[in-house]
Amino acid sequence: MFGKTLMNRYLSEWSLTRRKTFTNCARRYAKQYFFVTKRGNYKGGSTTNISYFDLMIKCTRIVLFELLSDLHKGMHWKDKVIISKMRFHVNVNYLSNSQHKIPSKKKNQLIIHGYRRIKGLMKQDVLRKIVDKSIKEWSFHHRVQSTRFGHLDVYCSPDIVYRQDSVWHLVRLNFQSEHRQPFQDLELCSMLLWSKGNQYLPSLDEKFVIHGLSWYKGKWLCNQVKPNQKLLQQTKQLLEKDVHHFNILAQEFYRSNDYDSLPLTKTKLYCNRCPYKINCPINKEVR
Ligand code: SF4
Repeated sequence: MFGKTLMNRYLSEWSLTRRKTFTNCARRYAKQYFFVTKRGNYKGGSTTNISYFDLMIKCTRIVLFELLSDLHKGMHWKDKVIISKMRFHVNVNYLSNSQHKIPSKKKNQLIIHGYRRIKGLMKQDVLRKIVDKSIKEWSFHHRVQSTRFGHLDVYCSPDIVYRQDSVWHLVRLNFQSEHRQPFQDLELCSMLLWSKGNQYLPSLDEKFVIHGLSWYKGKWLCNQVKPNQKLLQQTKQLLEKDVHHFNILAQEFYRSNDYDSLPLTKTKLYCNRCPYKINCPINKEVR
């Protein structure tokens, strides 16, 4: 009965993080999103495990959004404010995820990595124009609410939206890009689903420009996409396919309840930042 209930539960959520985790390592995805308590109950959502790297990314996002919030009110931050905010959030978020103290050398590294990302970002066109007020109409969005698309719940809101003339620009920030991103254009176009659900924005796809800003090897790289109906259609298909695969994996997992039987990453480099590497079978594999 227990297994049947779990296997019948349909997963409907899509987010870029889910997609990236899933395509990189099925075991890590299951550890993050499928959870069975000792009493045999199902609990969805992520666990409290977090790697140092993910902690840094999480804190950098929080600090950037605080900075944007102040910028919106016309307040500008000095560098030392970015550093002290990073320090505060690393401390708070680390303590809420662990009972141990973070080594101070590691803490300083995380703060510096976050600081560099934010400083680099502020030099990019979009942020420069916001600061010098050549972009006047803009907003920022926390990706905490999903947009309903058919039977899916899609976390796809842009990080920054701005308007120039009659064109809306949707910007997604990726604080750590991967080496290969074969579907990046489609992933970026998922922001259009958010805009279509947002009553304040016009619904014509031709009136949008999509921007992806990704941190890769110490630099911010920009990618710009002019969306059209075909891209939007392909994006929807990508999301449907992803969620279908999430559900196939869930069924496989709930049949065995064994994380270690699931496929592992093909790129061992990905394991460096994984919070589930202790006891992972990859460490026992002869490669
Ligand atoms: S350590 Fe590597 S193989 Fe194991 S779960 Fe994490 S990413 Fe996957």
